[in-house]
Amino acid sequence: MRGDPLVDAVVERLKPGLTIKDGFLGDDARDLYEIIDADAEVVAEMGLSHAGLAARMEFLARRGMKAHGGPVVYRQDIQITTDEVCGYVTCPWGCCGAFRKGVTTLHNQRSDFWVSYSALSIHMVREHHFFQGKGSSFRLDPYLLRWVLW
Ligand SMILES: [Zn+2]
Repeated sequence: MRGDPLVDAVVERLKPGLTIKDGFLGDDARDLYEIIDADAEVVAEMGLSHAGLAARMEFLARRGMKAHGGPVVYRQDIQITTDEVCGYVTCPWGCCGAFRKGVTTLHNQRSDFWVSYSALSIHMVREHHFFQGKGSSFRLDPYLLRWVLW
């Protein structure tokens, strides 16, 4: 994978400024595939799948959008807030269209954990198994996700 020009192009688009201002890699010293593989191990250890996590993220984001931004509580313990942001962003993999920039924030009142994510984050989890690098402002730790989404 290393030295592959297609992967190099993706990594360039994950850096600050090209797709989003702060980039997706944070201050993670690992390479892209080390990040993806380490997170995949956590997902498998929890008995979950990337598709299952993405489907649940999307389901809760849709619930939030139906409330037109105002906080809405799902199942009495997951508070969902949607911040609409104008504009679209394209996937750093360059494969898959444009995604609305809005951000969904979930607060699970049982675990007291929070996560925030966009439509692009859902797509990257589902299609590219990428939760973003450590130190990235939108890093989605899969373990944390598990304690917020359910
Ligand atoms: Zn993509």
